[in-house]
Amino acid sequence: MTEPTHGIVLGGGWAGMLAAHVLARHVERVTVVERDVLPDGPRHRKGSPQGRHVHVLWSSGARIVDTLLPGMIDQLLDAGARRIGFHQDLVTLTSHGWQHRFPPRQYALMCTRPFLDWKVRDRVLATGRITVRQRSEILDLIGDAKRVTGVRVRDMDTGAGETLEADLVVDSSGRGSRLRHWLSALEVPPLEEDIVDAGIAYATRVYQGPPGAAAGFPAVNVAADHRLREPGRFGVVYPQEDGTWMVTLSCTRGAGLPTHDDEFLPYARTLRHPLVADLIALAKPLTSVAVSRVGANRRLYPERLDIWPEGLLVLGDALAAFNPIYGHGMSSAARAAAALDTELQRSGIAGGTTHRAQQAISATVDDPWVMAASKDVEYVNCRMNTTDPRLTGGAVARQRFSDLIADRSIRSSAVCDVVTDVISLTAPQSELASSRFLSLMQKDRVLPELTEPPLTADELALVDLSPRSTVGAGGS
Ligand SMILES: Cc1cc2nc3c(=O)[nH]c(=O)nc-3n(C[C@H](O)[C@H](O)[C@H](O)COP(=O)(O)OP(=O)(O)OC[C@H]3O[C@@H](n4cnc5c(N)ncnc54)[C@H](O)[C@@H]3O)c2cc1C
Repeated sequence: MTEPTHGIVLGGGWAGMLAAHVLARHVERVTVVERDVLPDGPRHRKGSPQGRHVHVLWSSGARIVDTLLPGMIDQLLDAGARRIGFHQDLVTLTSHGWQHRFPPRQYALMCTRPFLDWKVRDRVLATGRITVRQRSEILDLIGDAKRVTGVRVRDMDTGAGETLEADLVVDSSGRGSRLRHWLSALEVPPLEEDIVDAGIAYATRVYQGPPGAAAGFPAVNVAADHRLREPGRFGVVYPQEDGTWMVTLSCTRGAGLPTHDDEFLPYARTLRHPLVADLIALAKPLTSVAVSRVGANRRLYPERLDIWPEGLLVLGDALAAFNPIYGHGMSSAARAAAALDTELQRSGIAGGTTHRAQQAISATVDDPWVMAASKDVEYVNCRMNTTDPRLTGGAVARQRFSDLIADRSIRSSAVCDVVTDVISLTAPQSELASSRFLSLMQKDRVLPELTEPPLTADELALVDLSPRSTVGAGGS
């Protein structure tokens, strides 16, 4: 009698849960190995420190999640998550000035990360076909350079080690993945790695906004201007599922960051426009400041190895992690899960298929990688160790073109539509070089520059904000 096929997923975070869900469609048993106890509610946990900061799930990722778990997005919206239409429901000072609030083309889901993870995890595990080994730490892969046959884990309560055998192992253990180390122990040649690190850091507090805030006040975003050749400072006020505001202030290397509660508001006043600070001043703080300094773009290239061990895949942040400001990590992981599903449908988990599946998964991270990394190299003090020719050559011409697009996109509706499709990962980055887009850049009607935040009188009244305090945008 043959053994039931077994898939093991390393890490029970966002990518791990989506990968486990996909695997359960193609193998008979799935085990998720996770260091934490996964909470049965919207609670923080040690292995997901990013959960204390703002998260948006772009519509591209949301659509994939909804395909894998039908009705999931409505369920999240019914439970309070906010659907923010880009750009109707968002007031943004971009590097190039205030964005006109064109009718929405794409959207982003806004809610706390513990809430999102919990709701999705609950649905994934409800099928009953996935076992989670909590409080278990991954130690090593077992097998050899040609084939991975399982993992060695350690029970964190008893200290006991155990070997788990599997037909397929998926590494989704996040930014801290030890994959390179595990592979070198199997004598697999070193994986190539690119790093582009603008030194991003986040500081976040949760606030109770004024009573009207939950009833339709837009999300607010004030960005840095990379052209100033000084460290960048950013601030956002994003609505959450429980009616609160999450305020995240962030910066690139050298701009400092508020680490104490009493520094938070003064720091917000140093952004390019006072809108974020004005909103904070109207709200009541509910939490102390939480700080995170994990934001480099980092990418591995398993697809470049001539020999990749059968029975092993890597996805999520373990494969490629991005500067979080672009909000691409979760959607990128969802794209990888969808690619895994397609490959497993095509070839199953039979021998000889893993390298191709890994190539398909790796292809999904290229657009978010190049989008984030090519923007970050423009910030002063950015450190990089990359051989990607798109980041190392032709920087001036590339930046001039991308500045032109950014300038047009905030004032021209059809251009903005295409750009929004690309930044939401709905359309490929190559769309921005298409003749259709270049023609739009020349022909589309360009609206006048906005000199102040495009908030309506009704919106200002919702939060009791005086129009005068928001006049005088710093955008150019
Ligand atoms: C500050 C910040 C803000 C962000 N904002 C956004 C955003 O707005 N939108 C967006 O799409 N993305 C955002 N991201 C990125 C997003 O958080 C990640 O892309 C996403 O969590 C990746 O999921 P993952 O499952 O690959 O990794 P993780 O979510 O980090 O999960 C990895 C899991 O593996 C477990 N684990 C790790 N090592 C071991 C081990 N040895 N043994 C057992 N278990 C282990 C961990 O406990 C964890 O549960 C942000 C990231 C940061 C840091």
